[in-house]
Amino acid sequence: MTNWMAELSWSALEERVAAGAVVLLPVGANESHGPHLPLGTDRICACGFAEEIAGRIDAVIAPEIPWGFRSQIKTGGGSHWVGNIGLDAEVLVGLVRATIRELAIKGMTRIAIVNGHYENVWFITEGCELAVRDLDAQPGGDLIIQTASWWDIVGDDDLGAIFPNPPESIEYEHGALVETSIMLAMRPDLVAADKFPQHGFKVFPPYDVFPQDPARGNETGSLATSNGANAEAGAALVKLIADRMADGIRTELKAGPSHGA
Ligand code: ZN
Ligand code: MN
Repeated sequence: MTNWMAELSWSALEERVAAGAVVLLPVGANESHGPHLPLGTDRICACGFAEEIAGRIDAVIAPEIPWGFRSQIKTGGGSHWVGNIGLDAEVLVGLVRATIRELAIKGMTRIAIVNGHYENVWFITEGCELAVRDLDAQPGGDLIIQTASWWDIVGDDDLGAIFPNPPESIEYEHGALVETSIMLAMRPDLVAADKFPQHGFKVFPPYDVFPQDPARGNETGSLATSNGANAEAGAALVKLIADRMADGIRTELKAGPSHGA
């Protein structure tokens, strides 16, 4: 059986929602991740975590938002790479706002946003805030939106337990050790193991300058080397992240058990 909303008929979706399914909304990006990972890495991770979560709790997965806010040099490698299709913030805010509003109007009022792209965070927040205002939702009412980004769920202690040489900080993890390991677990067919970036993390000044100059970024579109990335570590990360995300949704959205994948 499928948990993807777009693969269900309207009547099958109606049954799932009536039986208590919550809605997962993955949000990604099309963004450089170094020469070794696909542009859709953040979308693939968000959708992959949504599928894992739907294997743990009763959830249907809404069509994902494939685009994200534009990549920044310090956090995502920058917008200048070919394939980086970044949305203006207001467009992303509008997509999130309108999607939540439509879901809620159709009776799908328990929504968990599964984010895969760092630069999206505050614009997803704003989309939620505006949807809450549109719908005049109050704490304790029917509409509950939960947002989570996978990197917030991984602690330094987790990284230390999973990797013999853990990254100094999860902050560096764009296209590097952690994200590459997750991709090796989710979509090994899309990872070029012979093209891992070899450079360390570039130290940036504590300010930004616009227009952004690609010369201030690094040479690969990844923030640091992915040496040491492996599928076993990736599988451990996927399990840990999906377990904790599902726990949060179970608690906040009162989600029941999964109907299977
Ligand atoms: Zn990414
Ligand atoms: Mn990203």
